[in-house]
Amino acid sequence: VRILAIESSCDDTGAAVIVDGKILSNHIANQSIHEQYGGVVPELASRAHQENIVPVVDIALQTAGVKREELSAIAFTQSPGLIGSLLVGSCFAKSMAMALDIPLIGVHHMQAHVLANFIDDPKPDFPFLCLTVSGGHTQIVLCESPLQMRVIGATLDDAAGEAFDKSAKILGLPYPGGPLIDKYAQSGDGNRFKFTEPRIPELNFSFSGLKTAILYFLQENQQKDPDFIAKNLPDICASIQQRIVSILMNKMVKASQETGIRDIAIAGGVSANSGLRKALAEYGTKHHWRTFIPKFEYCTDNAGMIAMTAYYKYLAGDFVSLDVVPTARAAF
Ligand code: ATP
Ligand code: FE
Repeated sequence: VRILAIESSCDDTGAAVIVDGKILSNHIANQSIHEQYGGVVPELASRAHQENIVPVVDIALQTAGVKREELSAIAFTQSPGLIGSLLVGSCFAKSMAMALDIPLIGVHHMQAHVLANFIDDPKPDFPFLCLTVSGGHTQIVLCESPLQMRVIGATLDDAAGEAFDKSAKILGLPYPGGPLIDKYAQSGDGNRFKFTEPRIPELNFSFSGLKTAILYFLQENQQKDPDFIAKNLPDICASIQQRIVSILMNKMVKASQETGIRDIAIAGGVSANSGLRKALAEYGTKHHWRTFIPKFEYCTDNAGMIAMTAYYKYLAGDFVSLDVVPTARAAF
């Protein structure tokens, strides 16, 4: 089984080839154009996808050593995401499936983030819990089988990635600020500044209160000392990161206790965060969990995870027809 997968939900154009469940290539074109605007501009993202998609697909096929005529199916990200971006990937995938007369597979982007944990060994056993933390989502997902999963906790406002990016913005760091907070945090003391942990019911999250607390804290201190941020950047970043990570991990402890599940995975762009990765290992030891984190390139947006999900869908005969329409939002 040879599948070409395309990812175009946000600002990265990705293509990957999976052969009999093994990823043979995973290529991505990043769009740096958005940096100067401090966020992703949907219109510009769609155009860049349009420019990138043919070369990215060509490189993915070449690297894998697979010819178009040898493909068994084409997969694409169907939802959620920016609609203009999704349309570019879906139109391309449909055209290719039609030209080659092979099946088309629609993939849910958040399901794919979870299944990134199945690309390399060791893999979690079912049922397992996955904390998916990305730029647009924060979810605790209970996975019963590759294609059977449900969200048992989610954010009520900002996503964890947004919490990182918005905090970075307040600190005057460029977009996306998450990786920069991580970088400065490495030489800082996370216990120096205390931001309170919100009390949110059940397995849900909220990050907007933290953002406001950080804003007021910095405004107050900058008034007293205009160089406060400059002098304390590593400690501020470490303290912010420590709080975001503890909010996430404490809910995972609760989720594990309530479900009795001790195979715990993380996924999504924020799972690249070194503080979160370290905390997962520490909590794992303490609570007797087996823990799983995808390789770095499969944490942020990539087509490899779309390919992995598509492989399971192919085996299940789960195809979509050529009149399928991508959607900006969708549950799974
Ligand atoms: P979604 O998957 O919800 O549609 P997305 O695809 O835009 O959102 P991802 O690419 O999975 O999100 O993740 C991007 C987010 O991850 C950004 O908010 C970015 O700041 C954050 N991020 C990436 N690396 C790190 C890091 N090392 N530390 C903290 N945050 C990080
Ligand atoms: Fe994503």
